[in-house]
Amino acid sequence: MMLDEAPEAAIRAAVAAGFEAETRFLADLVAIPSTRGEEAPAQDFMAAAMRKRGFAVDEWTIDPEDLKPLRGFGPVMHDFSRARTVVGSLRPESSEGRSLILQGHVDVVPAGPREMWTTPPFEPVVKDGWMHGRGAGDMKAGLVAALFALDAIRAAGYRPAATVHLQSVIEEESTGLGALSACARGYRADCVLIPEPTDFRMTRAQVGVIWFRLRVRGRPTHVAVAGEGSNAILAAMSVIENLRGLEADWNERAKSHPVYADLDHPLNFNPGVIAGGDWASSVPAWCDVDCRIGILPGTKIEDAQAEIRACVSQAASGHPFLRDNPPEVIWNGFLAEGWILEDADEPEQVFAGAYRKVFGGAKPPDRTMTALTDTRFYGLYYGMPALCWGPKAENIHGFDERVELESMRKCTEAIALFIADWCGLVKL
Ligand SMILES: [Zn+2]
Repeated sequence: MMLDEAPEAAIRAAVAAGFEAETRFLADLVAIPSTRGEEAPAQDFMAAAMRKRGFAVDEWTIDPEDLKPLRGFGPVMHDFSRARTVVGSLRPESSEGRSLILQGHVDVVPAGPREMWTTPPFEPVVKDGWMHGRGAGDMKAGLVAALFALDAIRAAGYRPAATVHLQSVIEEESTGLGALSACARGYRADCVLIPEPTDFRMTRAQVGVIWFRLRVRGRPTHVAVAGEGSNAILAAMSVIENLRGLEADWNERAKSHPVYADLDHPLNFNPGVIAGGDWASSVPAWCDVDCRIGILPGTKIEDAQAEIRACVSQAASGHPFLRDNPPEVIWNGFLAEGWILEDADEPEQVFAGAYRKVFGGAKPPDRTMTALTDTRFYGLYYGMPALCWGPKAENIHGFDERVELESMRKCTEAIALFIADWCGLVKL
């Protein structure tokens, strides 16, 4: 059903009227430092906001053991006892239209050295129309836009004619277990929308990502006789060099991929965390390196894992100490396949209609990602078309992350008009 003009105008006016409250809500959420393992207060905040609005709230602790057998699972190695998913549902007594899942993640990546931020990462400020703060862009603004889109529909005097689930998840930045837990709990809909900060572009494809810890051993001696020892940090550097070779090979392969051929170097290898050794005058006996590497859509996780293992073994085979003491490869996060948006003509068409009303133009521009989002679970394993589209942000995962507030307002409008057209509206 296409929206006639009266509700459209009322909804757009309601977004504008609620925007100051929306901006405040975003600031309050950004002020909660919801880094990995510390997301509980942000989830409390979201659950309270949903309850206040009369959503039926379902929240549960995630037990990784329950999810282990599922496709897309990635192992966690930190304390997961407080890990929760929060879903707020609006369920009409009789559902007429098409149902919808709106999803956002509250987990944010670490801020890094505070002194390198212009303003403190968890004390959001608005400058020149941009809100600064860790997570403001990735992706609290999108999550808040989804919530306030539903507010605007109600303020305009309507409710969605079909079921809408607003899913506040965690772990998007490391395993995706929050989204997977919602799938496992049985949440389904005719379409999923994840308003990640895409700068108004529609995500058409994303790479897969594998995380692993490279655990390298050495033989400790006094540095005075370093030649008798084996330096685990230096050995780790040589293994990293070999992995960079694997990265180069995989990017060569990408040149014949149907979607990724046009992108320069889409698959990135990143040694992201390093720890090792105990003392400056002792040859280090250990070095752990946490790594991330991208894989192409269509590559099987098992095959990529085998290549990573083989690459590490090859590096070890030429090393006098590692030869007999091979490094361990420990899977400690994402085991995520790549994904391409398919079988989504109907939601894409409806979304393009909402987009046109706010932005003009035929439809959102395309975006091919060299990172990933939670869309993969829905598209690959649960048969739900998943759209990933959202506001304009800068410096996500870097210093001075910020989101453009006007883009959040437009995004809120577009989401509200999409809900109206996709789910249909009933007058309150
Ligand atoms: Zn994100």
